[in-house]
Amino acid sequence: MNLSPDVVVVGAGAAGLATAIFCARHAPLLRVVCLDGAPRVGAKILVSGGSRCNVTNTTVTEADFWGGSPRAVRSVLRAFPASRAAEFFSEIGVALHEEEDGKLFPDSNRSRDVLDALLREAGRLGIEIRPGQRVTAIERGESRFLVTTAPGGSTSLDRPTAYLARAVVLATGGRSIPKSGSDGFGYELARRLGHGYVETTPALAPLVLNGNAHASLSGISVRGAVAVRVNGRVAMRLEGPILWTHFGVSGPLALNASRHWHRARLEGQQVELVLNVCGGESFEDVEAWLLDRQRERPKARVTTVLAEKVPAAVADYIGALAGVEANATLAHLGREERRALVRSLVESRLDIRDSRGYNFAEVTAGGVPLEEVDPARMESRICPGLYLVGEVLDVDGRLGGFNFQWAWSSGWVAGRAIARALDGRRT
Ligand SMILES: Cc1cc2nc3c(=O)[nH]c(=O)nc-3n(C[C@H](O)[C@H](O)[C@H](O)COP(=O)(O)OP(=O)(O)OC[C@H]3O[C@@H](n4cnc5c(N)ncnc54)[C@H](O)[C@@H]3O)c2cc1C
Repeated sequence: MNLSPDVVVVGAGAAGLATAIFCARHAPLLRVVCLDGAPRVGAKILVSGGSRCNVTNTTVTEADFWGGSPRAVRSVLRAFPASRAAEFFSEIGVALHEEEDGKLFPDSNRSRDVLDALLREAGRLGIEIRPGQRVTAIERGESRFLVTTAPGGSTSLDRPTAYLARAVVLATGGRSIPKSGSDGFGYELARRLGHGYVETTPALAPLVLNGNAHASLSGISVRGAVAVRVNGRVAMRLEGPILWTHFGVSGPLALNASRHWHRARLEGQQVELVLNVCGGESFEDVEAWLLDRQRERPKARVTTVLAEKVPAAVADYIGALAGVEANATLAHLGREERRALVRSLVESRLDIRDSRGYNFAEVTAGGVPLEEVDPARMESRICPGLYLVGEVLDVDGRLGGFNFQWAWSSGWVAGRAIARALDGRRT
């Protein structure tokens, strides 16, 4: 076992594996070791995209991300764009195909194939991957880092181990799904090396609603829109499918909105998510449609007509929300009732209790401030020789393959920079 590698990568998730692979591809003679606290590496890749792994997206720009400076995010994405990621996966035997909204998945539809290909490539390049090695301390010496691990899993060594490395990569992820091994300790490791911390919240998390009116809709999905109202003003509009569940709402629209709800609450702002179940149609358009229907089919039941626009159960729910009697016909709908109904269709406030938290969140918002790394190298501006990649940084993407792209791009930038810094200067 090599205890004096050139590079120690802490965390063998998507970003850590990418960094190790790109570093070794650029400088094959460097000795690269990946340490991971989990007994098996790649848990998040395996569960991703419903076990199909949405590897990236056809179009990825800084506008798909939140957190640190868009300029810095753009610089990293441009260095290794989604097209390069797709080429890379094709090279290692994972052909990708496109699905709705530009999402790219492996042709086999198996996340296992993505992880296996990454591990195979790491093996081919001579990268040592050591699971069950939880890093408990990183200290910076004169010319090397001392990285200490504690035994952590069935395949671990049974005593603490210390590594001396010339460069260290912090690829410890965020706090989401802590049982996967990403429990936020990476922030503490960064802090001890002088880094700051942007308070974290769950992101891409399902939302829990108060009451139980939503329970009757469990399993039903519509293409909707959400207005995020912060202190009474619309701060943002999001669109996409929303899915009702036994606890509240999920699906891409709710997951994407959860981050904004959490961040506004964290900042002490008053925040509301207002749902439009008519795919973002305006109040005026929906009212005009309903007026037409009133003229054409006055004897039709209100909920029957609403079911032209939304699933029948949602029509019943919206009718009840607007206080319209179950059997009411369109002819019985006065101006105020009609407008109340339209308002329920395009502007119903989601009564949110909370999100389902880190145990269900796909990513973490917040983390190590992005301005503390040089985006051309992913090297710490505070602790030279330390590189930070992936979700440990204050960057979170929307749903659709963007978070993995951040892992691949930041990993590529760091891998190349480490290779350039250390190659030819082996000690
Ligand atoms: C259910 C789910 C589905 C998802 N689906 C998608 C998707 O389809 N597409 C997409 O783009 N994104 C998806 N994501 C998000 C994506 O998985 C993450 O953004 C990405 O995995 C982050 O990569 P990372 O390497 O930065 O962190 P992680 O994958 O979290 O890896 C961090 C690693 O560091 C290790 N570690 C942490 N602390 C230590 C320590 N002290 N010592 C040693 N090791 C340590 C952990 O064990 C872990 O293996 C999904 C996430 C979840 C939870």
